[in-house]
Amino acid sequence: MADKSNDKHWQRSIKMSFQKEPERRQMQKVKKQLKRNRQPKPARPKDWLPGDFDEIDFVQEERVMPRGERERRRTVLATALADVQEEPSPAEALPDEIIGQRGAIVEVSSGLCRVDLGGRTLMCGLRGSLSAEDTGFTNVVAVGDEVIVFDDGSGRGVVEKVLPRRSALVRPDVFYNHLQQVIVANADQLLIVAAWRNPVLWLELVDRYLIAAARNKLMPIICINKVDLADDMAACQAALHPYQALGYRVIFTSALTGEGIDTLRETLQGRITVLAGLSGVGKSSLLAAVQPGLQLRTSAVSEHSGEGQHTTTQVTMLPLTIGGFVVDTPGIREFGLSSLPQHDLIQFYPDLAAVATGCRFADCTHRHEPDCAVKRAIQQGTISAVRYHNYEKIYSTLPV
Ligand code: GDP
Ligand code: ZN
Repeated sequence: MADKSNDKHWQRSIKMSFQKEPERRQMQKVKKQLKRNRQPKPARPKDWLPGDFDEIDFVQEERVMPRGERERRRTVLATALADVQEEPSPAEALPDEIIGQRGAIVEVSSGLCRVDLGGRTLMCGLRGSLSAEDTGFTNVVAVGDEVIVFDDGSGRGVVEKVLPRRSALVRPDVFYNHLQQVIVANADQLLIVAAWRNPVLWLELVDRYLIAAARNKLMPIICINKVDLADDMAACQAALHPYQALGYRVIFTSALTGEGIDTLRETLQGRITVLAGLSGVGKSSLLAAVQPGLQLRTSAVSEHSGEGQHTTTQVTMLPLTIGGFVVDTPGIREFGLSSLPQHDLIQFYPDLAAVATGCRFADCTHRHEPDCAVKRAIQQGTISAVRYHNYEKIYSTLPV
């Protein structure tokens, strides 16, 4: 992904590509009009604007819980998943001062981006006046950004405007730690794919992704694939019970037998979904089952446009014929937890936090302290030992 130096390179190459463009004169008229109409540029909002919290599909489960416990857990989970606001109305989202077509960026590479215009894609440069300044981000556009594009029919468009983001999956910039780099904009959900076997289910990683999803305000969905390899399906389901009890959505699938694929397809429809999961768990196979022919890690921008020989594509957004997009990013592990202080981890463990109020020490870390209500609950079997184990392991890797 572009770091700061790449960004500079990007901006330079954008400028150069504009200076070289033969259609420059034709576009000057339009440019003037755009300039006249342009309002003083407001800083693009850095945080999520909307979201649709009502859609959370809390799994109902028959379990014996203390009265009010389910509600309380949901409240804690809801807090962890953070507040989200209403969708902007279409009128707000589409400013009328810009002439052009609305599209979504599906690939970004070396100063160019590929924009999906609903049925066709167009290679675009960026209007030179677009800037990441004052946004708190180091990149101007990211995959998933909704944009207004000017297409003069020459085969190369220009991104005139980047519409406000509904969400931003970010990581600290490599060189400027106080700034964030947007990896994916406007993603709705994080599909956490794990295999039951081959590789064996690794719930600590699932927990890490759940935390990353909450911190980036993405709706997490846990997909347990390769259930055809389960000798005992009840054991597989039992392993996920603690997650379902917390309200997380869990889908059991097999790309081999087709189990759960319809449910997965419905889940992806009409949304921007970021894929997460170890290599080998079956992400590519699942996508191919959802939509035959859909391939992860598609070719770089250069191969589509003939531009630039050394472009590398780190993030791609694949359109689904049923509506929606799937985003594949190898950098997903970096949406990690390096900036999460140890004492904040418990916020993302509502099951542990629920009993932690009973600990003797208010600053109990639930690891070595005496009279710890969390450890007591583990011994009594009222909370999941696996979740606690994950908490402990993740805790030890976080900064103080
Ligand atoms: P990715 O690296 O996450 O994209 O994983 P792949 O889709 O490449 O799958 C890795 C391997 O697991 C391949 O050999 C697949 O054939 C196999 N595989 C994928 N899904 C399933 C499944 O549901 N059941 C079984 N038994 N094998 C699967
Ligand atoms: Zn404790």
